[in-house]
Amino acid sequence: MSLGEFELIAQLLRPLSLGYPGALELADDAALVDIPAGRQLVVAKDAMVEGVHFLADDPPASVGRKLLRVNLSDLAAMGAEPLGYLTALARPARIDDRWLRELVAGLAADQARFGLFLLGGDTTSTPGPLTLSLTILGTVPTGAALLRQGALPGDDIWVSGTLGDAALGLRILKGLAVPDEEGLVLIDRYRTPRPRLALGQALRGIAHAAIDISDGLVADLGHVLDCSGVGAEIEAAGVPLSAEARGVPRALLGALTGGDDYELLFAAPAEAAASVAAIGERVAVPLTRIGRITAEPGLRVLDAEGRPMSLQKPGWRHF
Ligand SMILES: [Mg+2]
Repeated sequence: MSLGEFELIAQLLRPLSLGYPGALELADDAALVDIPAGRQLVVAKDAMVEGVHFLADDPPASVGRKLLRVNLSDLAAMGAEPLGYLTALARPARIDDRWLRELVAGLAADQARFGLFLLGGDTTSTPGPLTLSLTILGTVPTGAALLRQGALPGDDIWVSGTLGDAALGLRILKGLAVPDEEGLVLIDRYRTPRPRLALGQALRGIAHAAIDISDGLVADLGHVLDCSGVGAEIEAAGVPLSAEARGVPRALLGALTGGDDYELLFAAPAEAAASVAAIGERVAVPLTRIGRITAEPGLRVLDAEGRPMSLQKPGWRHF
């Protein structure tokens, strides 16, 4: 016997709204959100479909956490602070209440960790695959959001953390054999992104442009270049790989073109390099300079000998 829609909301979802009075305990038609004076609302939405964005046997709590975290990563890329979120859940018959309780437990853990509340939601049944959608709300001081546009020729290109781990984690879940010790770390990177909120906020006023790497370094840097009307040159050998990834075949290709890293990529003026490094220390996130913005359009990825590499697959596309 599975919970009906009203029981589901009352038992599972309402507790996630307590602590935000404007959510009205999810009992009204909509939530009321106050935006502090001098701040803008930042809104993003990401959907995840079973078999496309997560695997049917991924633990439900990790699916919930990933759903929240990929959206938080978009706030991070804008330099915003989280406020709240709304969910929509399209549930096939085989998803039972236990699965949903675990999903909600994952949301509960992470909303406490990142400081936001559920403001509303909807559930429906579906004859199709399990589909989860989350709309996130954040705020940023008016005019201070980091955008994809604004990168200037001569800017340094920086990335946070290490790249390619999540793509390797997915390959491992699909059968790539690696030693357990490395494999577990890489799978965790696929299932549990780390939204770089403190970094994004600290980069306000310093970075000229920013994006979170969800579709792969080459694809997402390409978005910044398109929006900014510039080009770039990056050195493949400078792309940061984790110790766990380094031993795996084709790790560099994954770092350049694999998705799901949810690290930040940003352009900052060369004069700001010392400030950027200090920010990395302060927020305890490794930052690596991987190249520079050029006036000449297009992206050139150079190998260790300085020759341009050709990349077959510029990034993960869902369609
Ligand atoms: Mg994004």
